[in-house]
Amino acid sequence: MSRYFTSTLAALEPYTPGEQLKIDNLVKLNANENPYPPAPGVAAAVAGTVDGLRLYSDLTEADLCAAIAAHCGVAPENILCGNGSDENLLLALRAFCDQTHPLASADITYSFYPVLCDLMHIPQHIIPLEEDFTMDLSRYCGLGETIVIANPNAPTSLLAPRDAIEEVVRTNPDNVVIVDEAYIAFAGPDASCVPLTRKYDNVMVVRTFSKSHNLAGARLGYCVASAGLIADMNRVKFSYSPYNVNSMTQAAGKAAIEDEAYFAATTKKILSARADAARRLRERGFWVAESATNFLFTTTDRMPCGEIFRRLRERGVLIRYFNAPRIDNYLRITVGTPEQMDRLFAGLDEILG
Ligand SMILES: *Cc1c(COP(=O)(O)O)cnc(C)c1O
Repeated sequence: MSRYFTSTLAALEPYTPGEQLKIDNLVKLNANENPYPPAPGVAAAVAGTVDGLRLYSDLTEADLCAAIAAHCGVAPENILCGNGSDENLLLALRAFCDQTHPLASADITYSFYPVLCDLMHIPQHIIPLEEDFTMDLSRYCGLGETIVIANPNAPTSLLAPRDAIEEVVRTNPDNVVIVDEAYIAFAGPDASCVPLTRKYDNVMVVRTFSKSHNLAGARLGYCVASAGLIADMNRVKFSYSPYNVNSMTQAAGKAAIEDEAYFAATTKKILSARADAARRLRERGFWVAESATNFLFTTTDRMPCGEIFRRLRERGVLIRYFNAPRIDNYLRITVGTPEQMDRLFAGLDEILG
């Protein structure tokens, strides 16, 4: 930190993303990226934007919002796009939290939320998960605070029922409830809270192209909410980064979300690899949470999990280990291709004997 860095942020501890090791034959199962390439139409769509790159991007993201709205069964006025979900979360917390509107969230959840709170000096109300890592959503009912719920949650991989989230939304009518659905594509039908956005004006669903639409590097996320909340988000967006989604990413996102068949096919492959990997882990004496995501949250008493993480890393297999309270003997493993999972298990068998 230089002596010029603002003292009001001196205590800021930035988010630690999954490592990006540059080694040959790396099996990268540490950032919940999709193991399959973007939909086949994405390359041509991006190439088609090149001539227009001298112009600013469409700051209303009209074509992309229309495609997303069609995918979600809502109107374009209910959609706002951002530079990844991370930006949309920042916009939302900027819009709906302040000194007198703290953010309530779980103790074990996406670790970007507390970082954003620290950055923007937003007080936090941490509500611990239950012993078995489920979320007792009755603890969020009638809170009178802004709330963020990752559903399915990360890194636990567990899904909370939509009815319970609806109760949270219904009993906090004067506050915004943000539901982070980064992994909803892997959670099965009727899990999403998007239908609640038609019924309640205080719920915002945040989604990303990074996990389910094979575009983590394009940086694209979107929010679904009542037109009023979207207008609020736009007020913040137009106050700091009006052109927040570049033209190439807008075209990539539209091509990706319009290809429902490719999305269904890659999702199906991941669900099948997930079931297979969970079974193989359990056969080897691991406890595995019932995953509704594209990753597995697991532990074992055969060897300390930090040790397993390090030894897999030495073998070019990268998974995620969090040295954090309550979860420091757990691993988070992204579901990759069947070949990648075979390399994971070959490594595990070497290590565990
Ligand atoms: C990956 C992830 C995000 C971030 O998504 P980006 O669109 O890549 O910024 C947000 N929330 C959760 C819970 C995630 O796991």
